[in-house]
Amino acid sequence: MSQLQPVRGTHDLLPDEMRRYRFVVDSARAAAECYGYHEMATPIFEFSEVFKRTLGDTSDIVTKEMYTFTDRGGETVTLRPEGTAGVARAFISGGLTQHLPLKYFYSGPMFRYERPQKGRLRQFHQTGIELLGVADPLGDVEIIATGVEFLRRIGAWERCYLEINSLGDAESRKTYRDVLLDYLSSHKDKLSKDSLDRLERNPMRILDSKDEGDRKIVADAPVYSDHLNGASRDFFQRVLSGLDALGIAYKINPRLVRGLDYYCHTCFEIISNDLGAQGTVMGGGRYDGLVGIMGGPETPGVGWASGVERCMMLLQQDPPARRPIALIPVGAAAERECLVLADKLRRLGLYAELGYSGNVGKRMKRANKLNARVAVILGDDELAKKVATLRDLDSGEQREIAMDALAQQLEAY
Ligand code: ATP
Ligand code: MG
Repeated sequence: MSQLQPVRGTHDLLPDEMRRYRFVVDSARAAAECYGYHEMATPIFEFSEVFKRTLGDTSDIVTKEMYTFTDRGGETVTLRPEGTAGVARAFISGGLTQHLPLKYFYSGPMFRYERPQKGRLRQFHQTGIELLGVADPLGDVEIIATGVEFLRRIGAWERCYLEINSLGDAESRKTYRDVLLDYLSSHKDKLSKDSLDRLERNPMRILDSKDEGDRKIVADAPVYSDHLNGASRDFFQRVLSGLDALGIAYKINPRLVRGLDYYCHTCFEIISNDLGAQGTVMGGGRYDGLVGIMGGPETPGVGWASGVERCMMLLQQDPPARRPIALIPVGAAAERECLVLADKLRRLGLYAELGYSGNVGKRMKRANKLNARVAVILGDDELAKKVATLRDLDSGEQREIAMDALAQQLEAY
């Protein structure tokens, strides 16, 4: 049998990477908590219908990327490709619709059958926030500000930019859809097959087609912002003026769209130049129609999701690992004493490393390898005097401490 390999597009988070992963997710959670978002988690699989209904039959995710299978009971389930659908499902099935507004933070693995490449995996991770029950543009501003604050905390915001657009309300959307359909229909002969399939059902989807030929046609297509009605323009202005007040710079990108009907008003992406083609680290927007489409009461919503792996690539230094206290026993009696001491320190919440065997030299070497902050050396002499030798491994300074005072001294490191 050949050696077992990880599945293509999946990766292990070994401790060094896990530390970076945790730094990103902890920063997102901490930022979100400052804005009043509470953590929640949904299952990593749902009935396929949850995603089909919310992401739409024509989306890339539903047509090409879902991990769907039939379980042993004959149910069709899907590994979640994103977080919002599950949160909205939980909001409805958990009977939370009377408790608005609700503010949720989540993080965890997502699954998409994509072509693996740098920044694009089949099992990846997202963190995200959702604000349910707020129709005011202040909600959109807060959502974006939370995302920016998260990226500031990981030192990435300085190397990112925010692109924003408005998708308007239902009326604007209908107007634009008709204008766009007219334009695209007049170029029917040059559209890709995929786009032709979408033409009637969802012409706006064609705007973010990756096909070269489509892109040429799309470049001259009528722009949504020219077809927004007054109320939609006003909404967008209020979002932008909130961002101005907070000093958050943005670029308006009239080509930034989302193909689904339940998206409206604000749509944004935060992009980094440092990541090449897979540069989008966060995507979000308003989805006032989503809960209704899922069978719940009409409930406004706005949120974002961010790719943890892409954020990890933006970290400029590794988050520091916790440094241990190394216990170095000399002789059998001291070993027993150190065993008990290590236990005592750990119960105080300190990180103590005793090692399992070896002479002083070997244990010292290991202490250095673990980047220990301080070493406690205990031999027969020390035992007789009821003291321990404490060596600061950064300065090399060494002193004797009474055993009774040792734990207290070590808490200072
Ligand atoms: P892209 O245009 O890169 O395919 P998307 O529009 O599919 O992104 P969203 O569904 O908005 O992405 O997901 C939000 C974020 O999750 C993305 O901005 C990205 O950072 C991350 N992400 C999406 N798909 C992947 C993937 N396959 N591997 C790693 N990260 C991903
Ligand atoms: Mg994608």
